[in-house]
Amino acid sequence: MKYISVFTMATFLMMTGCAGNTNTKTTDMDSMKNKNNPAYSRTDTAKVVLADDEWKKVLAPEVYHVARQKGTERPGTSIFEHSKEVGTYYCAVCGNALFKSNTKFESGCGWPSFYEPISKSSIIYTPDNSYGMKRTEVMCGRCKSHLGHVFEDGPPPTGLRYCINGVVLDFEKAQHAEEKYNTEQKPTDK
Ligand SMILES: [Zn+2]
Repeated sequence: MKYISVFTMATFLMMTGCAGNTNTKTTDMDSMKNKNNPAYSRTDTAKVVLADDEWKKVLAPEVYHVARQKGTERPGTSIFEHSKEVGTYYCAVCGNALFKSNTKFESGCGWPSFYEPISKSSIIYTPDNSYGMKRTEVMCGRCKSHLGHVFEDGPPPTGLRYCINGVVLDFEKAQHAEEKYNTEQKPTDK
């Protein structure tokens, strides 16, 4: 009897173990942070309004803190700060397209910096007088998540510096743009 129950138990554990592995395989990818988020879409442009407790359920804690509680990630911690990859930056909360990599520049401020958003509707601006400073907060135009601030000490042509928390950005590499760039760099026969 004892043997049977041990064997049954072992089989059961093996089976659940396997099932667990197949389930977590895809969810462990870094795109995982959006998988349980019903608001995330790269194509839907309709405004997103979710209650705070809903956001808390669907966002990773560090994303929730910056996006919904107007937090700030530690400077110098974003993988995007010095990234030179060609592509598009999206809102990590809702998938709204925010910035193109060709408007990104090295500001030295410790956060990913851009001089121009993709479109006027990408961003919402609001005065922020917290911490005794007069600043302009930038929020996602689709889900109103806090992204960072915009300052008037950026490079031409806009003179603006959008200082953005990397944790609320999603990046998609532009395959075609990169291939084109690489081809253009190659010497031609002409
Ligand atoms: Zn958004």
